[in-house]
Amino acid sequence: MEKSKFMKINCHDYSHEDVVKVSSVFKKGGLVIFPTETVYGIGADAGSDAACKRIFQVKSRKQDNPLIVHVDSIDTMKKFALTEEIELLPELEKLWPGPLTVVMRKKDNICNAASAGLDTVGMRIPACDFIREVIHSSGIPIAAPSANISGRPSATRIEHIISELGQKVDLIIDSGETIYGIESTVILPEGRKCTILRPGAYTEEDLLKIFDVVEYSVPGGKVLSPGTKYTHYSPEKRLYRAERSILIKYLEEHRGKVLPIITFETHEITGGDAIILGHENDPMEISHNLYHSLRLLDSSEYEYGIIESFPHRGYFTSIMNRIEKASIEI
Ligand code: AMP
Ligand code: MG
Repeated sequence: MEKSKFMKINCHDYSHEDVVKVSSVFKKGGLVIFPTETVYGIGADAGSDAACKRIFQVKSRKQDNPLIVHVDSIDTMKKFALTEEIELLPELEKLWPGPLTVVMRKKDNICNAASAGLDTVGMRIPACDFIREVIHSSGIPIAAPSANISGRPSATRIEHIISELGQKVDLIIDSGETIYGIESTVILPEGRKCTILRPGAYTEEDLLKIFDVVEYSVPGGKVLSPGTKYTHYSPEKRLYRAERSILIKYLEEHRGKVLPIITFETHEITGGDAIILGHENDPMEISHNLYHSLRLLDSSEYEYGIIESFPHRGYFTSIMNRIEKASIEI
């Protein structure tokens, strides 16, 4: 295939010409890698089976793992899903645009490939003004999973994309580093209650501003979100995890072989080579750097890594969901 085309975009300051350029790629059934506030997405027209099937092929994504559909507004969402079944939909405008995916019953204009044959669809309104403008002006809802080969850490910087998917799509839009660095929160609303199917950039506390009751889907119970049963977010090298005191002891015994991925505060105690995640009291900084840190481990000369783990509180609950899937506890 011909090499992918590139363009640089500022999500909040862009030209109409660029909107038209990107829209035309979607209209032709093309694949576009684009920025969101969470991670980079690989998108196609959510109404086109052929275009969506290409996403699965390029990512080596399992056929039963549905794609999230991005729209520009609740009005547009109404054209593609049975939004009237979501009691608190108007309230969700407090969290949208933002990193929230809401599972609802789909209409027939969302293709079967996008929904992986389910009668539901995960809907999201992303924060990047440019992408919402492309969706608005083209009238095309964009089906998009994360822009990485399945199982690998999601891409949060353009350099992560070049090596993995650089040749395999029609257009790559570079907008610098993504903000949150981990994926959206996926929820299933039922009346005034919602179930978190996948923890993510919005926390339980954020959802409690809207819903009376917020629950997590039971681990080991019926799989409500197909994607959560697969291996995810893993570096190629072996990665252990431990909380600070155990990690420090482990490092003393294995120094030279293992590369620690740790907070600034832990590094003040250990010194030596390390990948710094951020400050212990700044979970946004840590999530922002997480996947890049996992990829740095792979490109390092170290045999394997060890990553610091955190108490499951607030936003750290979502960060730990990703760390636990990427590593083995010691
Ligand atoms: P990704 O796009 O790679 O971040 O993965 C999307 C996540 O959303 C996966 O965990 C999917 O299983 C989940 N998801 C998307 N659509 C649905 C749906 N209709 N029902 C349940 N989960 C969904
Ligand atoms: Mg993904």
